Amino acid sequence: MTFSRDDVLAELGLSPQWRLRMRPAAAGASMPDNRIARIATLAWTELAPDIDACTACGLCRTRNRAVPGVGDAAAEWLFIGEAPGAEEDARGEPFVGQAGRLLDNMLAALGIARERNVFIANVLKCRPPNNRTPEPLEVDACRPYLERQVALIAPKLIVALGRSAASLLLDSDSSIASLRGRVHRYRGIPLVVTYHPAYLLRNLPDKAKAWEDLLLARATVAKSAAL
Ligand code: URA
Repeated sequence: MTFSRDDVLAELGLSPQWRLRMRPAAAGASMPDNRIARIATLAWTELAPDIDACTACGLCRTRNRAVPGVGDAAAEWLFIGEAPGAEEDARGEPFVGQAGRLLDNMLAALGIARERNVFIANVLKCRPPNNRTPEPLEVDACRPYLERQVALIAPKLIVALGRSAASLLLDSDSSIASLRGRVHRYRGIPLVVTYHPAYLLRNLPDKAKAWEDLLLARATVAKSAAL
C-alpha cells in the first residue's frame, strides 16, 4: 500500500493548507493577493504580531527577532531604513547599533526623538544574513507591511534613509545623490531622500549634505503644518 504526502499529513492531523501556510515562499513565487489584501486591513495592534509570525520569505528561518518598527503611531515624521542588522535582530528594535546612534543624533539636531512624533521602520522587517543587500523577493514579501504602516501612521513627511528605501518608495534606480535635494511624493505624502546613517559613518564629509536634507525635511513638515 502506498501513501501520498497528503495522507501522511492527514494522519498527523494536518491539512495540506497547513503545509502551504508554513512554507516560506519559494524563489520566484508571486505574493498571493489575499495576503496583500489581508495585511492592508490590519489594525495597528495586529501589525507587529503579524510581522513577528511572518513566514513569507526565507529570512524567517535565519532571524532571531522580527523588527516591526518603533515610535509614535501618530507620528508626523516617518524614517525608513533598509533592514535590521545584528543588534536590531537581537533586540527587535530598529537602528539600535552604531548607525542608530547617529540617527538619534540626527533626530536630536532636529529637536525630535524616537519616542516622540517619530516612527522608525525598515524596508525589511527581518535581518538578511551577514547584512547582505535585500533580495527583490524579500522586498516584495515585506512591502505590504511597510505600505500598511505608512497608511496607518499617515505621516506629514517620510525620510528615506539610503538606496533601498528610496528605490522602493520612489520606484527608481537613481542614485541618492540625484534624488536628494528636492521633495518627492509617496502616495501623496512628501518624501525627502538622504544618505543612510551607516554610509555617513564611512563618509563623514557627506554629513553636511545629510544636514541640508534634514533642513529641507523640517521646512517641509513646517509648511504642511501651516496649511
Ligand atoms: N540599518 C538599517 O537600515 N536599519 C536598521 O534598523 C539598522 C541599520
